[in-house]
Amino acid sequence: MPSIDALADRLSTYLGNDQVNLVRRAYFYAEQAHDGQRRRSGEAYVTHPLAVANILADMHMDHQSLMAAMLHDVIEDTGIAKEALQAQFGETVAELVDGVSKLTQMNFETKAEAQAENFQKMAMAMARDIRVILVKLADRLHNMRTLEVLSGEKRRRIAKETLEIYAPIANRLGMHAIRIEFEDLGFKAMHPMRSARIYQAVKRARGNRKEIVNKIEESLSHCLAIDGIQGEVSGRQKHLYGIYKKMRGKRRAFNEIMDVYAFRIIVDKVDTCYRVLGAVHNLYKPLPGRFKDYIAIPKANGYQSLHTTLFGMHGVPIEIQIRTREMEEMANNGIAAHWLYKSSGDEQPKGTHARARQWVKGVLEMQQRAGNSLEFIESVKIDLFPDEVYVFTPKGRIMELPKGSTAVDFAYAVHTDVGNSCIACRINRRLAPLSEPLQSGSTVEIVSAPGARPNPAWLNFVVTGKARTHIRHALKLQRRSESISLGERLLNKVLNGFDSSLEKVPAERVKAMLTEYRLELIEDLLEDIGLGNRMAYVVARRLLGDGEQLPSAEGPLAIRGTEGLVLSYAKCCTPIPGDPIVGHLSAGKGMVVHLDNCRNISEVRHNPEKCIQLSWAKDVTGEFNVELRVELEHQRGLIALLASSVNAADGNIEKISMDERDGRISVVQLVVSVHDRVHLARVIKKLRALTGVIRITRMRA
Ligand code: MN
Repeated sequence: MPSIDALADRLSTYLGNDQVNLVRRAYFYAEQAHDGQRRRSGEAYVTHPLAVANILADMHMDHQSLMAAMLHDVIEDTGIAKEALQAQFGETVAELVDGVSKLTQMNFETKAEAQAENFQKMAMAMARDIRVILVKLADRLHNMRTLEVLSGEKRRRIAKETLEIYAPIANRLGMHAIRIEFEDLGFKAMHPMRSARIYQAVKRARGNRKEIVNKIEESLSHCLAIDGIQGEVSGRQKHLYGIYKKMRGKRRAFNEIMDVYAFRIIVDKVDTCYRVLGAVHNLYKPLPGRFKDYIAIPKANGYQSLHTTLFGMHGVPIEIQIRTREMEEMANNGIAAHWLYKSSGDEQPKGTHARARQWVKGVLEMQQRAGNSLEFIESVKIDLFPDEVYVFTPKGRIMELPKGSTAVDFAYAVHTDVGNSCIACRINRRLAPLSEPLQSGSTVEIVSAPGARPNPAWLNFVVTGKARTHIRHALKLQRRSESISLGERLLNKVLNGFDSSLEKVPAERVKAMLTEYRLELIEDLLEDIGLGNRMAYVVARRLLGDGEQLPSAEGPLAIRGTEGLVLSYAKCCTPIPGDPIVGHLSAGKGMVVHLDNCRNISEVRHNPEKCIQLSWAKDVTGEFNVELRVELEHQRGLIALLASSVNAADGNIEKISMDERDGRISVVQLVVSVHDRVHLARVIKKLRALTGVIRITRMRA
């Protein structure tokens, strides 16, 4: 029965006293938190985190990983908050536990199953600290070791997830020993019959072969001794799942696979590996084409070894792996081996991924020395530390997006129509701003409405090219149709002054004009007018014949508030319905509405080519911002008072800022949105009613 004391003893061989005590404290905390909870097997729950910590101790992981292992189910299973753990054990440990909990919550089964690889990447992206993955792997390993107590269905689900997600992750991280155990335990749970049959066959074969194996081992050892080489020769067993995969994948018979005798020779240094190779090639003839130098050219996950196959006596094939002890350690524990070698000396693990990055760096350097292509190296790096976020659609499909992507990027990635008609989003079932950057593992749902249109403001936060292109395209279309409709109104207004209209103008006349302007469609002409590139009255006169005079009784054009992108309200004078206004046309930009007496347009005010008489339509809609300047005596809770007065008049405060002029008087600038002048008057009246208000001014240029 493992105990915390036994673990503490083991830990003291490589951790300091203080650190061992912290691990102890985490254990007792977990014991108390899980008090009364039992595992399926009937044991006290705390035996599970203790076992997980033991697995990490085998890999000589640091004390923070071990503490996180002790606490890894506390948030999930006992309702203790992350903040409480942070107060007790510090931010790093709390973050680790939180990360493991998030991975635990991710339910692979309910999601799309064909996306195992994306799922692996998502897991990696979710773990900002690679130790989260290592703790999770240890957790999963202990659960796999104790899988028998679960019901058949649950057992299969966990086994499948292990084979499809966690074994490949262990492989990416070079953690061979864990990967093998995952695969064999997973295989056993998924296919108990097949696994048992292969196990029996292996056992039988081993019994039959014992004599040959011993003989080969002896002759290998002897051969090393002759050359004066120190090395450790051992017979190597293939793992059951490996045999199974070979039988299926390469369609080989069991006997064919088992007829190979496998050995491993472990030596002290790299140089010796090559000497051993020479010696064994001298002993038995090597099989051509089977020699692989993974020392010079390591595998993507950092695996290093020499592989060769020999013709033994009577022609039996002998597979041999030759490597140093350090390579053996690396081959078994991968990224975790890095903690083992580097943990002495620098006590404080540097930042989140620093250790893992060192490992990756080491692997990359090995690859570079081996002259592998840059592209390949990049792919290793990206696999480990993805620059992408991985999120779920409501149906469980995984979408891969660049880091920083928002719900709008997501919507366009799903489908252009979804993007174009998107109005809001839910992230993990809660309404969230469209501009919020997405986090890996979230489920994103887009709320769309028929007829909704992209918002130009989206361009400020989308990161994918697809979203950007489609938003621009949609806005362009929208702008065109709005320009056409404004252009038509502008042109008709002038024509009406001549007792004419676009419909009454003879078609050949219109056609002749289009030819003259080198335009194809009447819409192109109207768009030009709407955008301010052509003057409506010039076009009107050309249409009617040059002899006509400018109409004198030209009525103003009514603004409805629904003109869209092609019409905007000047920021300098912020006109609102009820104000006398004038429209300023500037080429390419459409029309900007100014106050009649705005200083910014005073020079062009009477130039009919630049300015056009406007009025407000009776049914004008929308919210209009005005800026108010309120001088008042300084008093407590003044902002709240102002806000509630504006609110009481159904106004909305968009922006507020305050200057204290002296100790007594304050000046507050308010941007308030209102429907029209009458509404504004109501707001001002409410504000005036406040005690201490000295002066209210509407600001304009
Ligand atoms: Mn657990």
